[in-house]
Amino acid sequence: MSKLDAVIQDLIIANRILAREDVVDAYGHVSVRHPDNPKHFFIARSLAPDLVERDDIVELGLDGEPVRQESRALYLERFIHAAIYEARPDVHAVVHAHAEDILPFGVVDATPLRPVIHSGSFIGAHVPVWDIADKFGDTDLLVRNMDHGRDLARSLGGDNVALMRGHGFASAARSLIEVVRLSVYLPRNARALQRAKQLGGKIKYLSEGEIAARAGGYRPSSPETWRAWEYWAHKAGCGHLVTKPDQHEHKPKT
Ligand SMILES: [Zn+2]
Repeated sequence: MSKLDAVIQDLIIANRILAREDVVDAYGHVSVRHPDNPKHFFIARSLAPDLVERDDIVELGLDGEPVRQESRALYLERFIHAAIYEARPDVHAVVHAHAEDILPFGVVDATPLRPVIHSGSFIGAHVPVWDIADKFGDTDLLVRNMDHGRDLARSLGGDNVALMRGHGFASAARSLIEVVRLSVYLPRNARALQRAKQLGGKIKYLSEGEIAARAGGYRPSSPETWRAWEYWAHKAGCGHLVTKPDQHEHKPKT
């Protein structure tokens, strides 16, 4: 299997996992940067992530527009992905979703969404809240163009996740496996934090040192990381699509 085919197959798996884990529903999307052309990325056409197949994947440029003739509808908010890839050369995968559990943290300023559980550490020590109204006033809250997308990317800065006020979140990572992991644990961390709040008392967040220690020990292809990817893929009914990273490179016949 070529590297490109493997990346697209992983993108299909990522779509199914995010649906199965309730990060996305009919709405929300995941994308991956083209492995050989950093100015392009892959994302599904406008379709619920759980239904995405190989033929539904389209290639877009960093302006959010298709690089080939495309008559099918595209995600209205594809500019989230384009603008983050444009601003962040280190980012190779992006998720946008409306997961309910994170929404309260985008509309109150009393309790910031930060890691409180070890698996939530990958969201990073700082999670900015982007409010589209700050710059654009009354809108339908959707990221409909590059101006919206670039403003969101500015708010994200060098962080891993930005909450979008009254809307959802955008997350960014070096790889699909990382952005999926981050996006699955983000709502779980939010749930744990909200429940802890209900118990009362002072919230003990993970320290910056703990977050750094978790990030420092993390390897995308480690057996521990791979275990989750395989598990989630099987649970989502697409375990048969999983290929190990060492199978991605095409090995010429000898
Ligand atoms: Zn949205």
